[in-house]
Amino acid sequence: MSQLIELKVPDIGGHSGVDVIEVFVKAGDTVAVEESLITLETDKATMEVPASHAGVIKEVKVSVGSKVSEGDVIALVEAAGAAAEALSPAAPAPAAAPVEAPKAASHAGGADFECEMLVLGAGPGGYSAAFRSADLGMKTILVERYATLGGVCLNVGCIPSKALLHNAAVIDEVAHLEANGIKFGKPEIDIDQLRGYKEKVIGKLTGGLAGMAKARKVDIVRGIGTFIDPHHIAVDLTTGSGKDLKNERVVVKFQKAIIAAGSRVVKLPFIPEDPRIVDSTGALELKFVPKKMLVIGGGIIGLEMGTVYSTLGARLDVVEMMDGLMQGPDRDLVKVWQKMNEHRFDNIMLNTKTTAVEAREDGIYVTFEGEKAPKEPQRYDLVLVAAGRAPNGKFIGAENAGVVVTDRGFIPVDKQMRTNVPHIFAIGDIVGQPMLAHKAVHEAHVAAEVAHGEKAYFDARVIPGVAYTDPEVAWVGMTEAQAKAEGIKIEKSVFPWAASGRAIANGRDEGFTKLIFDAETHQVIGGGIVGTHAGDMIGEVCLAIEMGCDATDIGKTIHPHPTLGESIGMAAEVAHGSCTDLPPQRKK
Ligand code: FAD
Repeated sequence: MSQLIELKVPDIGGHSGVDVIEVFVKAGDTVAVEESLITLETDKATMEVPASHAGVIKEVKVSVGSKVSEGDVIALVEAAGAAAEALSPAAPAPAAAPVEAPKAASHAGGADFECEMLVLGAGPGGYSAAFRSADLGMKTILVERYATLGGVCLNVGCIPSKALLHNAAVIDEVAHLEANGIKFGKPEIDIDQLRGYKEKVIGKLTGGLAGMAKARKVDIVRGIGTFIDPHHIAVDLTTGSGKDLKNERVVVKFQKAIIAAGSRVVKLPFIPEDPRIVDSTGALELKFVPKKMLVIGGGIIGLEMGTVYSTLGARLDVVEMMDGLMQGPDRDLVKVWQKMNEHRFDNIMLNTKTTAVEAREDGIYVTFEGEKAPKEPQRYDLVLVAAGRAPNGKFIGAENAGVVVTDRGFIPVDKQMRTNVPHIFAIGDIVGQPMLAHKAVHEAHVAAEVAHGEKAYFDARVIPGVAYTDPEVAWVGMTEAQAKAEGIKIEKSVFPWAASGRAIANGRDEGFTKLIFDAETHQVIGGGIVGTHAGDMIGEVCLAIEMGCDATDIGKTIHPHPTLGESIGMAAEVAHGSCTDLPPQRKK
C-alpha cells in the first residue's frame, strides 16, 4: 500500500523566511532517507535539508528563490510498503541517474590572462594537478579563493588534525609509562601554545607549496572562479585571510582545465548558530577544552577530534545513526580500538538520532531518539557536528562550460578523469568517494598526464583508509564483511601483536595484522591493521595488492626485526603455514 508523506522543513535554528538556493529533487525522483532535498542559505550559513522519508517524489513545492520556515512542505513523497519506514542510513544512496549535459554558454568578451592549463582549486588535488601540468611543460594557472594553497587537507583537515593528534598521543603514551615505573606530573596544557604549534605546522607546509608553485612558474590567481563558457573562467578576486571580495573581476582563457574544487562540511538544518557548536574546522581552532563534549557522527573525523579533546580533558558522548562507530573497516579491527578507548566516553549512542539542539546560557541541550537515547535532553559544553562532507560541484558555474554535475553536486568522470566535455577534467572530493587526499593526488597526476597527451588511466586496484586514532585502524581492499556480502571466497590469516616482540617492547600489543587472500588465485586482495602506527604500515599491503603478490611473496620478503611492519610478513607466513613465532598451526 502506498502512502503520501509531506517532507517538511525541520527546525532550522529559529530562522524564518530562509532562501532556498538549490533544489536537488524533481517529481519522479526516488529519494533515500538523509538524501539532500534542498539547500537553504541564511546570512550566516548554508545548510542542506535531508529527506526524512524514502520514496518517489510526487510533487516539489519549493523552487530556487522560495523563502521557507520550519514546517513548510518541501515535497510530497509516495512511500510504498517497507519504504515508508525510514531506511537504514547504511543503505547506499541510489545510483545517480544519468544527467543530461547542460547547454554551454558562450563568452563574447576578451580575457585578462591566457593559459594552456587552468586548475580550479588548490587543495591536494589542485596543487598536484597544477604542479604536474607545469612539470610536463604546460603554461599553468591555478585559481584559489583562499590566501594559502593546500585546500582542506593542509589548512583545516589532514595536517592540523594530525598535528593535534600527535600531541595527544604523546600525552597518552607518557601517562602509560607510569606502569613501567616512570612518573611524570600531570601535563600542564597551554592551549594557545598548542594552537600556535598547529598553525606553525600549517604555515610550514603551505609556505612550502607557495615556493614550489613559484619555482615551477605556476601563476596563482586569488579569487572565486566561475566558468563562463567551455574556455573561459571569471575570477572574482579575493583578499585578506578569508574570501572577502575585492570587487574586481578578471577573466582567464584556457585550452584545458582540471576542476579540483573539493567539498564542504554538511550542515544539519536543525542546529542553531552558537560558538559552542562547531564543525571540524571549528574544532581545529581549539578555542577551549570543554568539560563535556558531544560528537555528532561516529565517523573518522569525529573520532579523531574526539580523541584530541578527550586527551586534553573532555568527557565524550558520541551519537551515531548506524549500528557501529567508524564504518568501513571490519568490525574485529574496530573492536580493538573501541576497547582501548571506552574510558574516553560516558555514552556511546548507536542507532540513535539527534532530534533537537537548543543553545541555552548554561550549555547546549541536545535531544536524542533511539536505542540508547537518554530520556531527557543532555547538556554539553561543546558539540562537534561531524556528519559528513558534500561536493562543491554546484557552486562553480560548471553548467556554463557544459559540464554535467549530478543532483548531489558530484562531477562524473571516466577512467582518465575526463568530464563529459573532453578538454575539462575533474579530480578529488568533487568526483566522488572516498573523499581522501591521497586519492585526489593520484587522480591529479592522471588528469595532468592525460591532458598532456599521455595514455594515463586511474587503474589503481585499491585506495587505503586510515583512522589516526589511538590505536590507529588502517585497512585496504577487500574486507571480510564485503567478501561475505558479495559471496567472494577468501582465505584470511591473522598475526596477533601479542606475539610481536616490538609491540610487547612498546607496551602496546593489543593490535593485530590481517591479510585477506582470494581463495582461488591465492593473491592478497585486502588487509587490515589495528595498532600503533598502523597507518604507516598499510602501504606495504597496498603495494602487495597492486603487484598481485601471494602469501609466499610477502612472507619470503625479509622484514627488519624487531618492527611492527614485521607483522605483515608474519601474517603471510601464517597463511602458508610457516610462521614460527606462533604456536604450531593445526594441520588443515
Ligand atoms: P579540497 O582540499 O577541498 O580543496 C579544494 C580547494 O578548492 C579549496 O582550497 C577551495 O578553497 C577551492 N575552491 C573551491 N571552489 C572554488 C572556487 N569557486 N574558486 C576558487 N577556489 C575554489 N584525507 C586524508 O586522506 N587523510 C586524512 O587524514 C584526512 N583527514 C581529514 C581531517 C579533516 C578534519 C577533514 C575535514 C578532512 C580530512 N581528509 C583527510 C580529507 C581531505 O582533506 C580531502 O579529501 C582533500 O582535501 C580533498 O582534496 P581536494 O583537492 O579534492 O579538495
